[in-house]
Amino acid sequence: MNAHGADEETVESILDELKGRDTPYERILSSMCTYPHPIAVRAHQRFIEANLGDPGLFAGTAWIEREVVRMLGLLYNNPEAHGYITTGGTESNIQAIHAIRNARGVREPNIIVPASAHFSFDKIADILRVKVKKADLDPDFRVDISLVEDLIDDNTIGIVGIAGTTEFGQIDPIKDLSDLALAANLFLHVDAAFGGFVIPFLPEKYEFDFALPGVTSVAADPHKMSFSTIPAGGLLFRDHSYMDRLSVDTPYLSVTAQQTLSGTRSGASVAATYAVLRHLGREGYERIVQRCMELTRGLLDRVREAGIEPVIEPVMNVLVLDVPDADSVRSKLKERGWEASITRDPHALRLVIMPHLTHENMFRFADDLCDIMSHG
Ligand SMILES: *Cc1c(COP(=O)(O)O)cnc(C)c1O
Repeated sequence: MNAHGADEETVESILDELKGRDTPYERILSSMCTYPHPIAVRAHQRFIEANLGDPGLFAGTAWIEREVVRMLGLLYNNPEAHGYITTGGTESNIQAIHAIRNARGVREPNIIVPASAHFSFDKIADILRVKVKKADLDPDFRVDISLVEDLIDDNTIGIVGIAGTTEFGQIDPIKDLSDLALAANLFLHVDAAFGGFVIPFLPEKYEFDFALPGVTSVAADPHKMSFSTIPAGGLLFRDHSYMDRLSVDTPYLSVTAQQTLSGTRSGASVAATYAVLRHLGREGYERIVQRCMELTRGLLDRVREAGIEPVIEPVMNVLVLDVPDADSVRSKLKERGWEASITRDPHALRLVIMPHLTHENMFRFADDLCDIMSHG
C-alpha cells in the first residue's frame, strides 16, 4: 500500500479501465449468473453496511432474511422451512451435509451423490471428512436409482439429488430418491442451486421439493436465475432441528448463537433478494423462464438445421451440443468473442441460456457456431 492515497478520480479511472477488461454478459453462454435486476441493485446499495453476522443490530435486515426464507419455503411447499441466505450453492451444500453429519454422529460417515454432482461435493469430502460416493447416471443423465441403492451401507447418512444439474440441466428422479431415503432412514438433500428458480416456473411439472416427504433440505441460489446480487444462496431445512445442529455459542454478539458458516455476512444481497422476489412474483419469473426456454429452443432449431444435435433434449435453459472436438470449438468461439463451456463426460459443448441473452445475439452466436462447424 502506498504511503499517500490517490485521489478519487485516479482510483475511479483505474477501476473503469479494469472493468473494461471484464467480459460483458451479452457474450457469455458459460455462466449461471447474470445482470442483477435494477431493483436488486438499489436494495443492495441501500443495505450495503448491514451485517447479518450480528442480527440484533440490524433488526430490519434480520426481518428481511426471515421473510426471504419464508417466501422460499412457500415456493418449495414448506411453510415450516428454516434456513438462511448463504453465499451460494457451495455454502448451502456444505452446511446441509454439515447438519446431517452432526445429526447422525457416525464415525466414518458417507453420502451418496449423483456422478453429475457439482464439484462443491468434492470440497465437502475434504472439509467435512464425509466420504462422497458417486452413483452413475442413466442414459438421460439422471442418477440411476438402483445404483444409489447399491451404494448404501451402514455408514451412509444421506443421499443427494440434483434438480437442475450444472452441466446438463437435468432433473434427477427426486421422487424415487425420496422414497428410498424414507425406506432407508436417510437424509435427502436436493441441490436446486440452479433449478430452484427455473423448475417451479416451467409449464411441465416436476416433483423436487418439500412436497416429497423424504426431502430434508433444499439449496436454491438467488444469485443465479432469480436476478439477485452476488452473494446470495438459499439453504432451507424441513424444520428448525437441523439448524440447531449447526449452532455455536457467540459470547460477544447481540445474539447468543450462530448457525452460519460465515461470521460477518452481507445483508445487502439478502435485501436485494427480497426486493426482486417481491417485485417479480411468480408471474415475473414465469415470463423470464419462458423467454429463456424460447431462446434455448430457438437456438437448438437453428443449429439442428446445420446438423448439430443435442446430447439430451433440453429440460431447462441449458443446452449441451454434441460436437466433435468440443475443446477446439470452444476456443474458436472464444476467438470470435463468445464464452462457451464444455461438459466432462461426454466431451460436449455446454451453453447456458441466461436472461441477458437476446434473440439477436443468439442468432449471431448460432451463425458463428455453424460457420465454425462447416469451415473450422
Ligand atoms: C452453481 C451450482 C452450485 C454452486 O453454487 P455457487 O453459488 O457457485 O457456490 C452447486 N450446485 C449446483 C447444481 C449448481 O448449479
